[in-house]
Amino acid sequence: EISIFEAYKDKERVLKLSEKIKKLSEKIGRTVNIMEFCGGHTHAIMKYGIDQLLKGVVRFIHGPGCPVCVMPMQRIDLAIELAKRKDVIMCSYGDLLRVPGSKRKSLLNVRAEGADVRMVYSCLDTLKIAKENPDKKVIFFAIGFETTTPQTAVLIKKAKEEGIKNLFVVSNHVITPAAIQHILNAPEIREIGKVEIDAFIGPGHVSVIIGTKPYHYFAEEFQKPVVIAGFEPLNVLKAVYLILKQIYKGRAEVKNNYTRFVTYKGNLKAQNLVAELFELRKEFEWRGLGTIPYSALKIRKEYEEFDAEKVFEVELPEPKEHPACICGKVIRGVARPTDCKLFGTVCTPSNPLGSCMVSSEGACAAYYKYRRAL
Ligand code: SF4
Repeated sequence: EISIFEAYKDKERVLKLSEKIKKLSEKIGRTVNIMEFCGGHTHAIMKYGIDQLLKGVVRFIHGPGCPVCVMPMQRIDLAIELAKRKDVIMCSYGDLLRVPGSKRKSLLNVRAEGADVRMVYSCLDTLKIAKENPDKKVIFFAIGFETTTPQTAVLIKKAKEEGIKNLFVVSNHVITPAAIQHILNAPEIREIGKVEIDAFIGPGHVSVIIGTKPYHYFAEEFQKPVVIAGFEPLNVLKAVYLILKQIYKGRAEVKNNYTRFVTYKGNLKAQNLVAELFELRKEFEWRGLGTIPYSALKIRKEYEEFDAEKVFEVELPEPKEHPACICGKVIRGVARPTDCKLFGTVCTPSNPLGSCMVSSEGACAAYYKYRRAL
């Protein structure tokens, strides 16, 4: 007996579906440009060689859906400056700790120099750290799309309920639909080498929280098919098939190909919790995409005692990107990792120069792992 996940990798079914896709592609008569928004899909496409399987049929344009990759240098600099303070314990998720800041140093580097930087698997671990270290200020550097925001909301709520006074959060939670809209509104990003993005593979995990409802606007207003998909090869191929079918018929609709987890309205309980604790920022800087209005969340006034950006004063100089790193272009989808002169030589996962080489969901790291030999 095979598990459901094994079934979604079944070679025979993969080849059969890819044949169906190729036949449909012949009828369309051109390569279809699909942006997979989520880094998890980029990883799956590279890992299973789906881009090779569908060469000439589909051009995958890797989107900005990797929370570590889109974190701008200035936010990394902020985390590093806070971490260097004597009375601070800085906590965040593993990958974030490896992203270099302006001075080519990461949180892990400043830890090696004596700062108290801790990797957490769950943001709720920071609650325990705060209780165990009452004389320290524990800061959680919160990152992520809609998938992780509810957990940060729970953390702040619990801290308030338990009267914790030494726990603070830097909220970097970002919003998927705002980024998609930005891409669709920006011709420089949307037209990749004068080729329009035809459709989107929508993120699976994010959509569990937000549902399929927000994507209908893109399908209707911009006439772009959106198919929500899981992360196994057959999930991705089925999404491609459903997109090509729509393009062939001249339609632009939202299809949910991840019905085992995603509903139309999403997780309302999580959405309400997030709305209780967070509100929209007027604007937020994304690496590669620039400033996007209403694309991130800040902690509400009622909980501002936990908002590290309100409690701590930090003055930061202008951030300095590595001059040869083209991460921004990779995130915008206008360059491939292999276009970067530093790819795989100076910049590797063990010595990342840009954020896209840090996380396994980053396009540079995915290319390095699965495409180095090509
Ligand atoms: Fe930046 Fe490294 Fe990617 Fe080049 S390979 S774009 S230096 S992260």
